[in-house]
Amino acid sequence: MSEPLLEIWNLTASYGRAQVLFGLTFQLRPGEVLALVGRNGAGKTTTLKAIMGLVPAIAQKASFKGHSLSHLPTYRIARLGLGYVPENRRIFTDLTVEENLETGRKAAGAGRSPWTPERLFRLFPNLAELRGRRGSQMSGGEQQMLAIARTLMGNPDAILLDEPSEGIAPVIVQMMAEAIRAMKAEGVAVLLSEQNWAFAAGISDRAMVIERGEMRFEGPMAELIADERLRTETLGV
Ligand code: ATP
Repeated sequence: MSEPLLEIWNLTASYGRAQVLFGLTFQLRPGEVLALVGRNGAGKTTTLKAIMGLVPAIAQKASFKGHSLSHLPTYRIARLGLGYVPENRRIFTDLTVEENLETGRKAAGAGRSPWTPERLFRLFPNLAELRGRRGSQMSGGEQQMLAIARTLMGNPDAILLDEPSEGIAPVIVQMMAEAIRAMKAEGVAVLLSEQNWAFAAGISDRAMVIERGEMRFEGPMAELIADERLRTETLGV
């Protein structure tokens, strides 16, 4: 088994006096898709934000490619090669697709072939057709794809996606699934926070289920798919 890229031990996080994450331990391995599932308010978004240093959090260990993430500002964490696409898709609405992609460009690490707009257009064929369009003229699903593509322009080794399928037409969700499979095939690891069970189940190698900030399951996605009782109890699916 390969060395983990991202290692999190005993992660806790609070908003003021309200603790919302209770000792989460998990690892993201190179080139895998790891789903983070749980009901509304379970703590999925907070987990991703805690990894990126966007909410106050404490972990016994938090490292990416062997570098400690503790006390690092978010931009330094991103520079280590950890991409993050938040729920609210921060694209520039007054820039075109191509211009948005350029804003995400960063040099690739040694031994990696860098992402280019042309290579990304093969991953997201519908973006190729919209290359001259401004962000404000795109649907929510198209903006979501652009947000992911722009993050890939930074040549990350891993990417944290917060509910990419939220509020998106089913046909676009299908395209998103294809794009995530293709990203994985290109060696990018994905930590996928999702409400959409069918989407997460269809593309993930492993899964974590959190309930009220506690880890209820961590293991192969096939095992979670087979465990109907746990799914009904924790996810209602
Ligand atoms: P959702 O799918 O609704 O985004 P989630 O699983 O991502 O849910 P979080 O957004 O991480 O859950 O929220 C976890 C808990 O923390 C919830 O009880 C939520 O109400 C609370 N919470 C989230 N953000 C804040 C905040 N800024 N201040 C106080 N409490 C918050």
